[in-house]
Amino acid sequence: MPGHGMLAATPSLPEQDDQVQAWVDALLAGARASGASDLHIDPRLQGAQLRLRIHGLLQDWLWVPLRWQQRLVARLKMLARLDLAEQRLPQDGRLNDGCQGSIRIASLPTLHGEKLCLRLTGDEQRLQLDDLNLPAPVADALRKALAHPDGLILITGPTGSGKTTTLYACLQALDRQTRHLATIEDPIEHVLPGISQTAIQPRIGLDFGQVLRALLRQDPDVMMVGEIRDPATAEMVVQAAETGHLVLSTLHTGSALEALTRLRHLGVPPWLLADSVRLVLAQRLVRQRCPHCAPELPGQAGRGCTHCHQGYVGRLGLYECLLMTVPLAHALQAGAEPGQLLELAHAGGLPTLAASARDAIASGLTTYDEVQRVLGPCACPA
Ligand SMILES: [Zn+2]
Repeated sequence: MPGHGMLAATPSLPEQDDQVQAWVDALLAGARASGASDLHIDPRLQGAQLRLRIHGLLQDWLWVPLRWQQRLVARLKMLARLDLAEQRLPQDGRLNDGCQGSIRIASLPTLHGEKLCLRLTGDEQRLQLDDLNLPAPVADALRKALAHPDGLILITGPTGSGKTTTLYACLQALDRQTRHLATIEDPIEHVLPGISQTAIQPRIGLDFGQVLRALLRQDPDVMMVGEIRDPATAEMVVQAAETGHLVLSTLHTGSALEALTRLRHLGVPPWLLADSVRLVLAQRLVRQRCPHCAPELPGQAGRGCTHCHQGYVGRLGLYECLLMTVPLAHALQAGAEPGQLLELAHAGGLPTLAASARDAIASGLTTYDEVQRVLGPCACPA
């Protein structure tokens, strides 16, 4: 994944009010230039701490005194067409900063004032499957699953594990000229030309299930359903995948196998799972070791240099892939124990997250610390 290590030059505070516009533009440009995915404006007692999320971790950036904090928040809310007067209720919106693309913004009242979080979306919308660093067998399996006219492809992982990026890359790989591609998202993160995208709006009762029901009446070929959260959506998603549609979706589960368990708990019968699920991809993102300052010892980060941030530069995906094979489908329908399912799931030699982490460490791409941080201590390969 692209990313620069160093914090960008920090724009200096304005001296008078008519400089606020240019200052805010410079802040957004600076945050992007440092490779941050998010900008946090944290209200404190006497002002706001601006923080950047770089390669998944937050760090302090700039301190903004009260006077300019208020102007900064007002300017951003105005750009995103939020209600300026409303400071007691959360709001969310989107602002455009020219050619750079759009920024999602969310406000939340906190003890010392409104906190704003800005999601700076970068080049992900142009990401292709080849850019994801998928291990060759996983890339092959995913391409094969995508080549089918129907079936369910699931991407799993916690928030911030890059699921959406992978989904978008999958959609990019599909032909949208001769097929009807549609997405249901919460919210729409990137605009994809040639694809009908719908954002759910829980406030007016427009949820995944309702949009999905309406979409199925519009002759879709491929559907991307942002997330499966409830039994009604789970049922519709697997039914659609079983009746001639290619469906892509995500679940908040740790491992690939847990996705099947979760769908069972959401009321999907085993035979339907066996019939509809084609592939489950579990993923995580770890920071990538900087090749310029890395010590010879594998698995250790360097001290940091002008090319990186604290020894890391960019991020790398770790993947675990589960294919619905005939033996696995039979075992599912027979109500096999998770242990047995796990054995069958990986019988084909597709990697687990832990194996993927081991490979990444052995190839010098990441560190023990990163793997522990992301997969937890028990998953750390010895
Ligand atoms: Zn370095």
